[in-house]
Amino acid sequence: MSARPTIGVLGVQGDVSEHMAAVERAGGTARKVKRPDELTDVAGLILPGGESTTHRRLLDYEDLLSAITDRYRDGMAVFGTCAGAILLATEVLGAPTPHLSLVDITVRRNAFGRQRESFVTDLDVAGLDGGPLRAVFIRAPIIERVGPGIDVLATVDGEIVLAESDRALVAAFHPELTADDRLHKRFLEKTATAEVAR
Ligand code: GLN
Repeated sequence: MSARPTIGVLGVQGDVSEHMAAVERAGGTARKVKRPDELTDVAGLILPGGESTTHRRLLDYEDLLSAITDRYRDGMAVFGTCAGAILLATEVLGAPTPHLSLVDITVRRNAFGRQRESFVTDLDVAGLDGGPLRAVFIRAPIIERVGPGIDVLATVDGEIVLAESDRALVAAFHPELTADDRLHKRFLEKTATAEVAR
């Protein structure tokens, strides 16, 4: 891994500055990405939360859908949080078609219902040193299925809320809203294998 990998944060909507600050604290250099040319030399891309349908419109508007797909095929790593995980999924229950369709998971939008629209809980995360991880859920999806090569890292009431593959991390919650940067660090480690275009 280069000393400080450059990590893009999709800057169309959501907690962009919080993710950028977490990347910097975790040892990366953060870059806001709003246009395809800003993706060329990033080792990884974070897709923040927000509203996945709004994100999708902006991705289409800026022609970012195919640019992100191309860079992922080249070796860029991706980290989707909440709506960002919905954007990455190959199947979205509650939406007519998937969006980027890069990570083989099925997600259900707004899956915790009105009773648990927003909540905070401590997660036991597989392979994460340092004890439970505080996780903030806001109108969160759940991951109903993970495909081959994707490992479940954490669950809430038996529902999958965190999973990973070699180059992807998907979280149903908002790791950028706490001071705990362990997931951003884990994501930076994934970029070590990313072939960065120069
Ligand atoms: N409910 C949003 C969606 O389905 C996701 C919410 C979030 O990102 N906090 O797109």
